[in-house]
Order: sequence, then structure tokens, then C-alpha cells
Amino acid sequence: MSNKSKLKSEKQWVNIIFFGLSFLAAITLVPWYGIAYGYHFSTWAWGVGLWLFSSTSISMGYHRLWSHRAYEAHPLLRAIMAFGGALSLQNSALHWSSDHRIHHKHVDHDHKDPYSASRGFWHSHIGWLLKRENEDKRYDEQYDRCPDLKRDPIVMFQHKYYWLLSVGLNIAVPALLGLAYGHFWEMMLVAGVWRLVWSHHLTFFINSLAHIWGTRPYTEENSARDNIVLAVLTGGEGYHNYHHKFQYDYRNGVRWWHFDPSKWWIKALSWIGITKNLKLVSKEKIEKAKAETLLIKAKKKTAHLPNSEEIMQKLQDEYEELVAKLTELYAAQKQWLEAKKSELAESYDKLDIKAEYELLKKNFELQKASWLQLAKQYA
Ligand SMILES: [Zn+2]
Ligand SMILES: [Zn+2]
Repeated sequence: MSNKSKLKSEKQWVNIIFFGLSFLAAITLVPWYGIAYGYHFSTWAWGVGLWLFSSTSISMGYHRLWSHRAYEAHPLLRAIMAFGGALSLQNSALHWSSDHRIHHKHVDHDHKDPYSASRGFWHSHIGWLLKRENEDKRYDEQYDRCPDLKRDPIVMFQHKYYWLLSVGLNIAVPALLGLAYGHFWEMMLVAGVWRLVWSHHLTFFINSLAHIWGTRPYTEENSARDNIVLAVLTGGEGYHNYHHKFQYDYRNGVRWWHFDPSKWWIKALSWIGITKNLKLVSKEKIEKAKAETLLIKAKKKTAHLPNSEEIMQKLQDEYEELVAKLTELYAAQKQWLEAKKSELAESYDKLDIKAEYELLKKNFELQKASWLQLAKQYA
């Protein structure tokens, strides 16, 4: 992307001290206490529970709902996620979403992407939080990119009282739990410090590692990657290559079996009306994106071969055949779904349409197999 020239920056001392001390405490005091005194099971149950609650609020709320509007949510759920987000101490939903929309728009751009992976692991992980560079208007101070969020009273309430809520919850929740269970310091260390540091760095991994480590099946236009390890650790956010290609999809792990608890929650809550208007990218578009990416990869890999022209032509032909069959298939599927719903169509017409659809499906599967066999030899 752009050049690596130095930007004028101001150190963010509050962040440096806070992130530094909390990290140090998590790697020293937390294990020391365990060795010296031992922990109760309830302490870790609350620590893990609060981590899952706050990180799900970030993934389902800050990310998929507020940054991308991938679905709509009942005010009660929005309020719960606004609390969870404040507990995670990652700034207000408005601020987070504004940064994140800029990240998608200018992904990998050294100066415009707030946490650009093009500037290396450290910068995209946490470095960007430890200094502030205002060149190129990287930050949107007035949140002009989020007029929709400014109309959400829950977002604006959380934004207005963010520091009070955030600091208050991070002290009050572990303190009250500690008093209730009668082991105050344990709870402060695990449900307070460990939970916060652990959930911070796992979220930060999506900006750093998920742009470095993993596969790129849907697009090679940016550095985002699909990574199952990160998906497991972040409630499904690790399917980051898919997400950067189709950011408005409420799913990040697109197949039903992809480990994506946020997707499962959003879907399950739609059955009882808490979430609605879930946005989905069509299978046709997804298949096309995958085929196109594979074509580009295969062409790149064959460019140096002596008979590259011939191979590339073969790849191109097979690819075009695949896309043609895919388009036909989805047109037939649409027709079939309409016929199924229609009361008017005669049953023998319906059977014809169904047979045609089944045939095209078989043809497509055959073409896909032959395409994959060819392309994977080279890609
Ligand atoms: Zn990203
Ligand atoms: Zn995103």
C-alpha cells in the first residue's frame, strides 16, 4: 500500500501504563496467587463466564450489530451488549464501530487504516493504541461515519457514560462477586485482571494475527485470513477472510459447522424475535468468490511455467464453464422455490421445474469437481 514514512505521533501514556500494568499483573500476580494460596473453582467459573459475556458483546454487538448492521436487535439485547461492551473496556460502541468502519474501508493502508496489518504485528495488535497519529484523518472525531449509531439511544447513552460504566463495572463486578463468595482478592485477580487482559488480547489478535496467519479462500485483495484457532478463541471472529469479503453477513464462519457461536446466538435469538432481518450473502456469490480466488492463485503459480499460456487458458475455460453453470443453477433454484410456493402452478409443471433444477445441480457438481481437480494442481 502506501509508503512507510514516519507520522507525527503522541504517546498515549494512560494506555501505555494501563495495558502494561494489567498485562504484568496477569502474568505474575495471577499465577503467584494460585501457587501460594490456590484458587476456588467458582473464581475461575466467573472469570471465564465474564470473559465469554464481554467478548460475545464485542463480537455480536460492537462488531456485527453496530459496526456492520448485519442484523437488528431488540433494545433489551442491545442494552445487555452495551453493558458487556463496557465491561470489556474497548471504548464505547460508537468509537469502536467508527474505527472499525474505517478499518474495512481502508484495510491495509499504512496511514488510513487505524490498525493496519501492513505496519506489522505489534502496531496492529496494540501499538496503535499506545500512540495517536492524526495525519490523514484516520480517526473520525465527530463520528460522521456512524449517523445510524448516533440515532440509537442505547449507543449514545453508553457513549456518554462510557468511562463511568466501564471503570465502575470492572471494579464493582469482581469486587461484589468477591465479597459474595468471601474470597475478594482471588476474584479481583481472576474475574477482574485476568479476564480483562485475556479478552483484550484475544480481540486484538483479530486485528493482528487474523491478518497474518491463516488461509485466504474468498479474496486475496487484502491481508485478512480465515483461522480456526482464532475462531475458537474469539467466538467465531477468526473467519476474517470471509468477513472482509462479505462484511454485512451476520455469519463470519459461513458453513453451519464453522465454529461461530456469535452466529449461532444471533440465529437462535431470531427464533424468538429478539433478533431479526439477519443479512446473508447468497451461496452463488460465495461460490463465485471462491472460484475467482482459486483462479487467481492458480494463475499466479503457473505464470513461471514454460507452458503457462496453455494452462492459463485451460484454467480460464474451466472457470468460465463453472460460473456459467453456477448462474444457471441458481436461476433454476429461484424458479423452483417460486413454483413450490405458488398455488397456481400445476403439479406436473412443478415436477418439471424440480427435475430441471436437480439436473443442473448434478451438472454443476460435476463441473465443480473437474474445476477443483484442475485448479488445485496449480494453486
Ligand atoms: Zn480486519
Ligand atoms: Zn468487521
